[in-house]
Amino acid sequence: MNILVINCGSSSLKYQLINSESEEVLAKGLCERIGLEGSLITHQAAGKEKVKIETPMQNHTLAIKQVISALTDAEHGVIASLDEIGAVGHRVVHGGEKFSTSVIIDDEVMKAIEECNDLAPLHNPANLIGINSCREIMPNVPMVAVFDTAFHQTMPKKAYLYGLPYEYYEKYKVRRYGFHGTSHDYVSARAAELLGKKREDLKIIVCHLGNGASVSAVDHGKCIDTSMGLTPLEGLIMGTRSGDIDPAICDFICQKENITPAQMNNILNKKSGVYGMTGISSDFRDIENAAYAGDEKAIAALDAFHYKVAKYIGAYAAAMNGVDAIAFTAGVGENNKVGRSEIANYLGYLGTSMDEEKNNVRGEDRIISKDGSKVAMLCVPTNEELAIARQTLALL
Ligand code: AMP
Repeated sequence: MNILVINCGSSSLKYQLINSESEEVLAKGLCERIGLEGSLITHQAAGKEKVKIETPMQNHTLAIKQVISALTDAEHGVIASLDEIGAVGHRVVHGGEKFSTSVIIDDEVMKAIEECNDLAPLHNPANLIGINSCREIMPNVPMVAVFDTAFHQTMPKKAYLYGLPYEYYEKYKVRRYGFHGTSHDYVSARAAELLGKKREDLKIIVCHLGNGASVSAVDHGKCIDTSMGLTPLEGLIMGTRSGDIDPAICDFICQKENITPAQMNNILNKKSGVYGMTGISSDFRDIENAAYAGDEKAIAALDAFHYKVAKYIGAYAAAMNGVDAIAFTAGVGENNKVGRSEIANYLGYLGTSMDEEKNNVRGEDRIISKDGSKVAMLCVPTNEELAIARQTLALL
């Protein structure tokens, strides 16, 4: 069966068509600037040249129509008609406390996702628009929602409660949820596979280090803690997000700079992280290049980033009373051997050390710690689209 995986943002839409038997990506692409001037679809069929087509897409329904027409195009397409799409898997950012697994989408599920909009106002409404558009165009195709938060729903109360008045949890569901769940689930399972063990027998720490970054503690197959919270702002220092800060800083800066809490929130999400710390870029490659060239802010930002990851690893080793494996994934985690090595330098006390030769790897599944290390370290490229396709298939 061919499964169309959709990741819908407010003005963009990423897609992949995956054959569920061979797990081959038949085609993938991106619609950008939906609803804006100059909207554009970039489409690539497996083994073929990437094509970019500028075409008006006033809304997401028109974007999905463009996706279908690219997939069925005589020249760039990979299927003859819509009938060859057996199911659609949708990435949904926030499932609140309602969803601890993926689900087949029906009207009730749509309502429940909508009820989580408050918790992810930038993401969930866009995800819903994408689902609605697909349902409009493919009314008879089964659809599945795969939530970023679901894998973390096994966290115990002691890990998800904030030290805030309890009524905020009761009234507004203010608690820690965690994100990147599909990636943490996929990577922890793959790490166990690479070690030739069952995930249920292992304590694994997954470091998803990309533009957004989070760490999770997967204890015998279940997530027991993760670094992101009510929103994806908590935890590590990220590309543009601050991660953990003293909450009193918000009011302090609002008063000093005469700005509103909403403006402060925007600064914490979009103007902080390594971007804010350096004034250079949110892209870790640019920060690294600047650090090599001797830029002191870039050196300090990278040091702070690695240090924070190492602190979370220490915290989660404590939370699980030990750790068997530490897996690095996402843009920085998969590709940056220097970053992995810097983090590993903090971890000798756990009984692990990096094998620099094995660590000389990019985007490839591999054990990168020395043979005989008490704790294994691994590089495991994440594949959220494949994970969504697998979960979609499993539910059907
Ligand atoms: P993601 O959000 O997972 O797509 O990751 C994006 C981040 O990964 C960006 O900050 C990139 O700079 C970073 N990244 C991608 N490739 C590399 C690389 N080869 N070395 C260092 N960072 C990389």
